[in-house]
Amino acid sequence: MKYDIVIIGGGPAGLSFARSLGDSRFNVLVVERSPLEQLQSPQIDGRDIALTHLSKKILTEMGVLSRIPADEISPIKQAKVINGNSSYCLEIDSKKTDADALGYLVPNYLIRKALYEAVEPLNNVKILTETTVRDVAIDQQQATVSLSSGEQVTATLVVAADSRFSESRRKMGISASMQDFGRVAIVSRMSHEKPHQQIAYECFHYGRTLAVLPLSGNLSSIVVTVSADVAQQIQGESDEAFAAEVQRRFKNRLGKMQLVGKRHAYPLVAVHANKFVKPRYALLGDASVGMHPVTAHGFNLGLRGQDTLYREIMAAHLQGDDIGSLSVLEKYQSKHQRVTWPLYTGTNEIVGLYTNDSVPAKVLRGLVLRLSNNFPPVKQMITRKLTELGGHEEAGLPFL
Ligand SMILES: Cc1cc2nc3c(=O)[nH]c(=O)nc-3n(C[C@H](O)[C@H](O)[C@H](O)COP(=O)(O)OP(=O)(O)OC[C@H]3O[C@@H](n4cnc5c(N)ncnc54)[C@H](O)[C@@H]3O)c2cc1C
Repeated sequence: MKYDIVIIGGGPAGLSFARSLGDSRFNVLVVERSPLEQLQSPQIDGRDIALTHLSKKILTEMGVLSRIPADEISPIKQAKVINGNSSYCLEIDSKKTDADALGYLVPNYLIRKALYEAVEPLNNVKILTETTVRDVAIDQQQATVSLSSGEQVTATLVVAADSRFSESRRKMGISASMQDFGRVAIVSRMSHEKPHQQIAYECFHYGRTLAVLPLSGNLSSIVVTVSADVAQQIQGESDEAFAAEVQRRFKNRLGKMQLVGKRHAYPLVAVHANKFVKPRYALLGDASVGMHPVTAHGFNLGLRGQDTLYREIMAAHLQGDDIGSLSVLEKYQSKHQRVTWPLYTGTNEIVGLYTNDSVPAKVLRGLVLRLSNNFPPVKQMITRKLTELGGHEEAGLPFL
């Protein structure tokens, strides 16, 4: 079979790109290793994704956001960042902006489900499930993709959205910078007595961080980040003991807290590919840049990247250019890397500082928050970056 574009991976990035291509005449194949049921009815994975205004706009235009129940889209009106045991916090308020919120929390499984529902009816996109891409071979004319079924398909362009540990990226000889933080994020949902008033908290305690993110009603998404050895211990605790510890560390701000559903653990490894493209091959989503979740950029960057790639290949196509040519793909690479690299390094620096409990780092941690709070240009810049829609490349949330 011959396709214009083969997308490896039907995760959020791959499906977003497929949805964008639904507006084109390209003949598209998405190859996904998981069974169909996992795309149709994804399991709850504990992740609540903080969407930027730009992401909300892109998902709305794709007809994806309207497929998510309105009460599952929870606005973040205010954000508070706390350092160590201090009660001092950096406060960012949407009231100081033209926007109604700093960002929006949406459960990851509902985003995935809505994306699948938006892609499934497209006439020019076929989704092949329970199939793994084994190999990609490139020549001047085309890319040949070998599938686990033994079949081979050809394409003008292969787009790999096959996770931060992308096998095809390695096979294509593209190196990546990787940072294993040796830490694990334990995510869960908790109900609580008192209302959260749509305030998101990121508490950089010593030894662990705790994010409390407002969902609908008296429900919050809880992210506890600890070193991997401590994570194992915490996962062994009873639900009651876990909830009581979160409540204690959160200084009872929300009253009594109770675990709702399971706890999910994610080892934290950040990855940035050193190149995003080769002739007839482009990396997308976490396969291009897999972020530490503390700044909530991962999927936001995936959406941004697919939008950039889509625009570049449509422009090339309209001019009669080869959409798989290096010169076309390099335009995507240079635009997207200008966005991703500063965010990747900046986020890793923040993580480095706020997980460093040495005395000088503790002093610096406090100073950075006070500077951000008390120096209006810095605070205005953070607030503007959070809510902007245009010139939006760096927009993102300063917490998970
Ligand atoms: C705890 C946590 C919280 C997060 N919070 C946020 C947030 O607030 N905001 C935000 O923007 N992002 C957040 N993220 C990041 C976000 O979840 C990811 O960036 C996003 O899911 C990546 O999507 P993807 O499609 O690139 O990759 P993946 O979700 O990894 O999907 C890759 C897909 O490719 C398939 N695949 C892999 N190899 C093959 C192959 N060889 N053949 C066929 N199929 C293959 C896999 O089965 C999978 O379906 C968070 C992440 C975590 C862990």
